[in-house]
Amino acid sequence: MSAPNIETIVSLSKRRGFVFPASDIYGGLGSSWDYGQLGVELANNIKRSWWNWLVYERDDIEGLDSSIIQNRLVWKYSGHEDTFSDPLVDCRDCNARLRLDKLDVDPTDGKAMCSNCGSKNLTEPRDFNLMFRTTVGAASADDDPAALAYLRPETAQGIFINFKNVLDTSRRKLPFGIAQIGKAFRNEVTPGNFIFRTREFEQMELEYFCRADDAPALFDSLLDEYQKWLEGLGISSENFYRYEVPKKDLAHYSARTVDLMYRFFPERKETGGDEWDEIMGIANRTDFDLKSHSKKPEGADGKRINPDSTEDLSYFDPTTNERFYPYVIEPSVGVNRTFLAVMMDAYTEKTNDKGEVRVILKLKPELAPIKVAVLPLAKNNESIVSLAKKLKHELQPVMRTVYDDTGGIGKLYARQDEIGTPFCVTVDHESLEDNAVTIRDRDTWEQERVSVDSLQAYLSGRLRKSTV
Ligand code: ATP
Repeated sequence: MSAPNIETIVSLSKRRGFVFPASDIYGGLGSSWDYGQLGVELANNIKRSWWNWLVYERDDIEGLDSSIIQNRLVWKYSGHEDTFSDPLVDCRDCNARLRLDKLDVDPTDGKAMCSNCGSKNLTEPRDFNLMFRTTVGAASADDDPAALAYLRPETAQGIFINFKNVLDTSRRKLPFGIAQIGKAFRNEVTPGNFIFRTREFEQMELEYFCRADDAPALFDSLLDEYQKWLEGLGISSENFYRYEVPKKDLAHYSARTVDLMYRFFPERKETGGDEWDEIMGIANRTDFDLKSHSKKPEGADGKRINPDSTEDLSYFDPTTNERFYPYVIEPSVGVNRTFLAVMMDAYTEKTNDKGEVRVILKLKPELAPIKVAVLPLAKNNESIVSLAKKLKHELQPVMRTVYDDTGGIGKLYARQDEIGTPFCVTVDHESLEDNAVTIRDRDTWEQERVSVDSLQAYLSGRLRKSTV
């Protein structure tokens, strides 16, 4: 089967409760999405996998949860107030508002073309700052400029301004990292493609602090490890490629950036378009951020780097007696784009013996929203129903389990396949005699008879074996 396109995933998501259009009953809100009963579980499982992998399984990373709204000065000294903007153009022919850097260029004259109508009749680009503005307290920003604040456009700055807090309280030595998961907000000019580009999204960011000399090697090893982690979530290595961002396009803080690209748009291949777009980026942010948030005087003239900060965010190495600003390697991955890639890679179709096409979402069991569905074969038989419900409640504290009796068994299996539930447990008439149940495997559709007494141990073992 060829790779599904995003529309296939949109339709499955809405049909089954993974993702719904936000504010839908009021006409929606340009590319905003709500995560439904299954989507919230999948997103949480992705975040849990990332957190376990970095914060619990490694020995060199601490966690953090910083505020979404910070003092405006954070965004002044990070450079976001001045530079976090996209070049905006309007099409004079169809009035579409577009991001110049995302438009196709006509190779004959080097002019950008409207992605809506193909016209080259575009306005001059102007910078549009992507930060969402808000006010803190009762004043309006017009009356009192000090009331102006922003919703964070990345989680990273919350980590930099807490560097010293974490360093002092954890007694860490370089190299070490701080990891954070949280919402970020960007007033994107052209949001779209489902959850790929939205104005409110979630990031999983790691800032890994090290000596400048160690930064290049750490960059390479973290990139490899991240790709491996993503592949462990079930994303095929064929669907990745690495884009080395050219020097001229690097952000002001970056000495090197690689974007890890995923094949989000397979259908574009037919028209010669670009199948790939970014799922995560990794940057060598040098010592830019810690330095620019530091009050410490620099240079012979003692000129202050930052007259507003009250702290020096440098690092003192007691073994060498050196004081310096650590370099930072930052792998930054989007929860929502990972969610989408995981869904796309897990999506398969299979024809049953009646010739009907069934969707099977082959999610890694660790990520599956529901691990086990307990299904009674006869919903009017009280003994079968009560045994099924009892099994559901016994399994629930150990693994996410649901009970469903709202259809015939074929329909119930199909429903669970479509949402990626790895195991169905069926309770039938025989179960009342032999105290055993049937376990059906999502991917092979094979069935096995297992005694009720060993059910939990059996399922735990199967789930553990296939854990990411
Ligand atoms: P793009 O070039 O697609 O705008 P970016 O390079 O600005 O992305 P980063 O600032 O590197 O993105 O953010 C890190 C990660 O956060 C991205 O790789 C992506 O997974 C996620 N991300 C960024 N912007 C959005 C968005 N508007 N919607 C959803 N996810 C996003």
